[in-house]
Amino acid sequence: MSSTIIDEIFATFERYGALNYGEDASQLQHALQTAELARRNRCSEAMIAAGLLHDIGQFMDDAGSAAETLGIDAHHEETGAAYLRRYFPDSVTEPVRMHVVAKRYLCASDPAYLQGLSDASTLSLALQGGPMTHEEAHAFEGVPFFADAVQLRRFDDMGKHPEWTVPGLESHRGRLEALLLVNA
Ligand code: FE
Repeated sequence: MSSTIIDEIFATFERYGALNYGEDASQLQHALQTAELARRNRCSEAMIAAGLLHDIGQFMDDAGSAAETLGIDAHHEETGAAYLRRYFPDSVTEPVRMHVVAKRYLCASDPAYLQGLSDASTLSLALQGGPMTHEEAHAFEGVPFFADAVQLRRFDDMGKHPEWTVPGLESHRGRLEALLLVNA
């Protein structure tokens, strides 16, 4: 029963995963690499799952990525988190929901981070609201799963290698099944 949901998620990756992520890696490579970075950094199972699933909202709304290149923010993090909340706990969905706002936080709190943004990421920063103000950053630090969201964002930024081969979708099946909500 539970595996039906995992099959649905994997089918979504099979359908849209070949799409370009924007910086020479495919969407599937990006998802798997972000998860692998969490795994190698000894993060929780929930964080590894969040790494894998953080951009799934980009596949839910076909116009998502296109809209962003046209100068509209389609809020893929909200779409993705809303979908995932039906099946997974907050420890997975909250970092996903906040991974974009975490970038605004990092831009405000870490000058090296702001300098190191890719061209595409610098462009989208403006659409996302620009760096947080000092007050916004301070308030964000009090939000549950704040640290996980920031950590996820750093993995997100690093998981864009066209040549890096990492364990595939099936390596995550048991992890995702174990995280499923009881009533999902
Ligand atoms: Fe991403």
